[in-house]
Formats: sequence, structure tokens, C-alpha cells
Amino acid sequence: MSGDGGSRTIPGVTHGFGSKSAQLPIPLQPYCSTRPATKQVHGTRIVDVHHPLQACGEADGFFTREPGILLSVLTADCLPVIFCRKDGQAIAVVHAGWRGLLEGILEQMAQRISLEDSTSNWVAAIGPAAGVCCYEVNEDLINNFQQLLPFPATMISPSYRHLDLAAIAEAKLTALGFAAVDRVGSCTICTPNDDPALARRFKYTSYRRNSHRREQDPTHPGIKGRNQYSGIIINQ
Ligand SMILES: [Zn+2]
Repeated sequence: MSGDGGSRTIPGVTHGFGSKSAQLPIPLQPYCSTRPATKQVHGTRIVDVHHPLQACGEADGFFTREPGILLSVLTADCLPVIFCRKDGQAIAVVHAGWRGLLEGILEQMAQRISLEDSTSNWVAAIGPAAGVCCYEVNEDLINNFQQLLPFPATMISPSYRHLDLAAIAEAKLTALGFAAVDRVGSCTICTPNDDPALARRFKYTSYRRNSHRREQDPTHPGIKGRNQYSGIIINQ
């Protein structure tokens, strides 16, 4: 993988994680029009993508072996997770909020890959999302995670009512056999702006931070608030 925000290079593949300065990462912008048509619903459905602009319906995960199709997800505080076969011959992407994590979207993706391959041939990168520093939820949700997942309680929630989405995703992906799992992004709620050209306080859009004045995005009627894209493409 190469591109904005990447820490790993796989020849023939470009990926990136969006921010306020580029909602869709610049290296991915030329391929915007190839994206499948879809609506994210915090579910666990994964779709195989075979051609540009494919109508995918409601889905939160996408898989392809075809070059020239941008797979992307929109997130604010949820986790974007990008997947790539180590030889660059197949890619995938997932949108995982707490609901998707709990209901098993990462396991669904591992299952999809395992139909014809092994997750040990794949790497994953977890992008910017609500960090454990800021992501406060109710006690019942923390209890649900701690009861359902075989990970240490203090890893799931290192401080009172704070949920560590990225740590949970990393632990799951490692347990599912992925060859490497990178954590690339920082907290969407509190990370300060690092682009001097922008007179803005924060680097990422955040649903939590802006929830008191959120607006509906006309291009994605199911999603409220501004969001950033994370995406990956096999170069043509
Ligand atoms: Zn934070």
C-alpha cells in the first residue's frame, strides 16, 4: 500500500485515510467515480465488487480483485479498516463502529477472505476513529464487550466507561490470523489540525464533537454530519 497516511507499501495498490484537509485522500480522488453505490448501515454485510459503480445496496464491507475500482467507506468516529493481500492482488475495506465490532463485521471479512485464501496472506490497517481518550459510552455497552469478547477487560476499557475501538479491532484482526495489523490514525475527536493552510482547530471530522450541530450529508442520506473517506484501489 502507498499513499496518504500509510505506513506500509505494497506495489500496485494505493490507499489513504481522509481528514478535514482532504475528505477523500488526494491520491484516490481521480478514482472517485468508480466507487460502488452503497449505503452504510452499521451492519455486517460484505459485498464482492466486480465492476465500477456496482449497486451494492446496504453494506459496510467491500472486497475485490479487480483493478481500477475504488473501495471506500465513510466514517466520522467509527473505525475504517483497510485490507490488502500482501501481493496486492486483492483488497477490501470495512466500516466498523461499536455495533459492527460487536456483531462481527471483522469476522465476516475474515470469513470472506478464507473462502479462497488465508488471512495470513493479508495485512490490515486501522484508520482514524474515536480514541479511547475521548470515546465515553454507557456502562452496559462496556459490559457487553467485556462479556462477549475473549480479551482482557482493561484492554477493552482502560478507564471508566471509555471504550477502545482500535485496540479491540487490532486484537480481533490478530486473532483472526492477519499477517500484520497497523494502527494508522489518531483520535477523530481531539487530534488538532496539522495543516497550517487550514484555519481549523481539528484534523478530522467527528460526529461526537459536532453532534449538537450535525447536518445530513445530501450525498449519503443515511449519514448525518460530515465524514471522511478511507479507501483503497488496485492500480490499473
Ligand atoms: Zn481523543
